Amino acid sequence: MKWTDSQEIAMALADAHPDADPQRVNFVDLMAWVLALEGFHDDPKHCGERILEAIQAACMWVDTHCHLDAAEFDADRDAVAARARAAGVGMIVVPAVEVDNFSAVSACCRRYSGCVPAWGIHPLYVARAREEDLERLREQIRHEPPVAVGEIGLDFFVPHADMSRQQFFFAEQLRIAREFGLPVLLHIRRAQDAVLAQLRRIAVPGGIAHAFNGSRQQAQMFLDLGFKLGLGGAMTFPRATRLRAHAAELPLESLVLETDAPDIPPAFSIGGRNSPEYLPRIGGELAALRGMGPEDLALATSANARAVLPGLAA
Ligand SMILES: [Zn+2]
Repeated sequence: MKWTDSQEIAMALADAHPDADPQRVNFVDLMAWVLALEGFHDDPKHCGERILEAIQAACMWVDTHCHLDAAEFDADRDAVAARARAAGVGMIVVPAVEVDNFSAVSACCRRYSGCVPAWGIHPLYVARAREEDLERLREQIRHEPPVAVGEIGLDFFVPHADMSRQQFFFAEQLRIAREFGLPVLLHIRRAQDAVLAQLRRIAVPGGIAHAFNGSRQQAQMFLDLGFKLGLGGAMTFPRATRLRAHAAELPLESLVLETDAPDIPPAFSIGGRNSPEYLPRIGGELAALRGMGPEDLALATSANARAVLPGLAA
């Protein structure tokens, strides 16, 4: 048993208490279960420390989508990473957008503990991607195993989008994800149905519909395909009524949190730059919308993130 692994603890708790909903594990259950373990009562101090560690690890927030390698953070990246950690963000998924930024993402993930990469070619970067880049993507996955293939997807919002080129790179990268048994991080704008159609053709082991902003019906289709829905700063604006309704009503086990920093700044941010240190406050807004405590929400959304991106728990 790895005591710092919240997912294992939640799963073991679910085994011990089959009636308990692992998404709604509360601290009293957690402590009672840890205390009940054979041998643990022999050393109360050690036991107490392990309980504290387990609770702290389980309650850390996970930012499932943050471009910490972006130039916007060049001046103060160390300080941003330190503030995010101090705010309780224990893990940050840093998705690449093209092969030319693989080295920046890799450097970022080596420098900051808790940062893990995803490798992929973003739909807005396929215009300058070459077919050989797909082979470089395979090499990168072998060389530095990611938690997902991403950021990939379709963006039909931009004017003059080359839809067929986007579709080609998206389909090829779904095949790569399937080849390596990896989940995917999806960028979707004005293309929910087109993305769903590709996912039905080329099945992958789930993933995250990042910055989800579709209909309730589309949400259900992603959930049926094994996906979680990424919610972030956009949800903090009072005028985002549909998104806030999703945030309040979708099943808790379907949601993960993300910042997409430096993009999509939340309503409360100052200076126009989003940052991973805002994640707990974004999570606080989601908790308030759902009428639950922020600690329970952190526990649940972090467990969801580990469930859909198993590499996070490795
Ligand atoms: Zn992104």
